[in-house]
Amino acid sequence: MVTRFEFATAQRIIFGCGVLAEAGALALALGRRPLVVTGRDPSRSLALLDLLRTQGLSPSSFALAGEPALDDIRRGAAQARAGGNDLVVAFGGGSALDGGKAIAAMAVNGLDPLPFLEVIGQGRTLEQRPLPCIAIPTTAGTGSEVTRNAVLASPEHGVKASLRHPWMLPQVALVDPALTLGVNPEVTASTGLDALTQLIEPFLSARANPMTDALCRDGIRLAVRSLERAWREGADLEARTDMSLASLFGGLALANAGLGAVHGLAAPLGGLAPVPHGAACAALLPHVLEANLAACGPGHPSRVRFAELALLLTGDAGAGPEDGVRWVADLAGRLRIPRLSSYGLGPADLDLVAERGLAASSMKANPVPLDRAALTAILGKAL
Ligand SMILES: [Zn+2]
Repeated sequence: MVTRFEFATAQRIIFGCGVLAEAGALALALGRRPLVVTGRDPSRSLALLDLLRTQGLSPSSFALAGEPALDDIRRGAAQARAGGNDLVVAFGGGSALDGGKAIAAMAVNGLDPLPFLEVIGQGRTLEQRPLPCIAIPTTAGTGSEVTRNAVLASPEHGVKASLRHPWMLPQVALVDPALTLGVNPEVTASTGLDALTQLIEPFLSARANPMTDALCRDGIRLAVRSLERAWREGADLEARTDMSLASLFGGLALANAGLGAVHGLAAPLGGLAPVPHGAACAALLPHVLEANLAACGPGHPSRVRFAELALLLTGDAGAGPEDGVRWVADLAGRLRIPRLSSYGLGPADLDLVAERGLAASSMKANPVPLDRAALTAILGKAL
């Protein structure tokens, strides 16, 4: 039976090959002085800057060197305030989108994100509505264009934590699959497995609802059909389009149904070692599924979900839950996802990551509670 649920997303979602061309007109409707927040290669945004100038806008740029840290947001927000920017256009992978959303929020809320952060901050709530934001993803993975949080690193605390508020949903999510054509195989694999994880975890989540279920079922089907194809043949626009859609669906689902233990552990892992978020998710996913399945036990209501997941992944009506877990592990192997130890993590780090994972907000949506020993065991298998 369907009980009460809620679903919120970006004000507008525009999807399709070539929709980047609409960025100038969309920006003109929201501001005059856009701050374009990009990833480590700002030259990729030259066409976007031209589109903005053609509309008579005066854009400035802010480049993030990697995953956004607190200091990056402080600098970006200060630049936006000093430059009189009235709009943020976030253009890039998940880091640039999260960074842009956080800068848009902090430019009008005191410049320092720390007091507003979950876990390590005071969890203060935003007082002013952020600058309007147009989010344009150039990878297919995080779905950040339709989520209400930004994951920020605090090197000082050695963790990553979320800045979260419903106001942080962008005004416009502009998703152009053609922008992902140049993504290399390694990034295609890790971001694509992040997208798949962000469809599987909300599907198994304790907070799943009928709308997120519909998105997850279709999104998993798209990722199963096209992730490996996009990895092997980067110029395959059909496969890239499927993956951009899968990523978007994952973002919509996670923002409304939550995640689970994979993301609960991925955040502290990423705070401790330079593991790209998608690679951390991919390394953990099969082992978390296995542990969740074991913890559910026969007769647990979530087992029906695991059985359906196995069917969605393998396409085999006779597949059991364990076959779904094996399918995910095999895919990560074929896409050559490195083990966690290749990022310098060792057995001595695991207990701390497990302890921090227990406190992570994503952990609350895991279908069954996992204790510290179970989390440490999962990490040990992914090492
Ligand atoms: Zn993720």
